[in-house]
Amino acid sequence: MIFLEPRITVLARPSFAEPAHLPVNWLGESTDGERLAEFAGRLCYMSQKNPASRNTRDYLDNIKKQGHGSVLEHATYSLLLEGVSRSLTHELVRHRAGFAYSQLSQRYVDESEANFVMPPAIIGDEALEAAWREQVEAAQRSYVALVDQLMTRYAWVGDKIHRRKMAREAARGVLPNSTETKIVVTGNARAWRTMLELRSSEGAEFEIRRCALAIIRTLADEAPAFFSDFEIYGAADRAEAARIIYHKV
Ligand SMILES: Cc1cc2nc3c(=O)[nH]c(=O)nc-3n(C[C@H](O)[C@H](O)[C@H](O)COP(=O)(O)OP(=O)(O)OC[C@H]3O[C@@H](n4cnc5c(N)ncnc54)[C@H](O)[C@@H]3O)c2cc1C
Repeated sequence: MIFLEPRITVLARPSFAEPAHLPVNWLGESTDGERLAEFAGRLCYMSQKNPASRNTRDYLDNIKKQGHGSVLEHATYSLLLEGVSRSLTHELVRHRAGFAYSQLSQRYVDESEANFVMPPAIIGDEALEAAWREQVEAAQRSYVALVDQLMTRYAWVGDKIHRRKMAREAARGVLPNSTETKIVVTGNARAWRTMLELRSSEGAEFEIRRCALAIIRTLADEAPAFFSDFEIYGAADRAEAARIIYHKV
């Protein structure tokens, strides 16, 4: 299977349990993650009575404006990313602060039937698509042949699971960066914002940029107050990009 775009699934979102002894005078619409952040912010000044009569989204907008971003760290969102390439995840996992990752292992998982992700720059050009398909299919055939030969070479290893792992971890060296992978990413709202700002910008590589834009749309639905200051636009390179109002809160 060839992926032409990422598949993003929300696995987990915050669940806020308001303490009965510290009720907040909530105003306006909000989700649990947003309330959790507002609750944390208001605790700093014990302003639960909401003296400025701010609704949650205005309150959090002001938090971003003031650069008081640590409050956003309380709200975490876990996403399952599929249909993304190993080259994308190689870039993604560079984002350290506030993120946790669990990725499909090419040492344990058989990649004989692996899927591939077509680089966005190739999509739509028949000749380029054909050349790319030929290369990834050839690489996959080499992988299958190498696993086979390595299983023979390591026939003396009694534990079959260990033998397979030895074969797969060496054979994966011939698989391309376009090999599809799956990764669970948990990040707090502040960390997501920083990563999304960098990876949705015009300087970012096309595939991770497309993924970042899809994540912005997903998370803006989950918690508009955290992500609605991303503005998506058509860039001069004919792809979408995003810019943000409040830089690195
Ligand atoms: C367009 C683009 C091109 C790139 N090209 C390259 C490249 O050619 N080669 C390459 O190696 N990488 C490249 N990168 C990756 C880049 O160098 C960063 O590793 C990546 O963007 C993660 O950024 P970060 O460290 O700010 O993120 P995070 O690790 O998530 O950190 C977020 C923020 O927390 C703070 N922080 C985190 N860790 C520390 C620390 N140890 N000490 C002090 N402060 C810390 C910093 O303020 C940091 O900005 C590129 C990134 C982009 C967006």
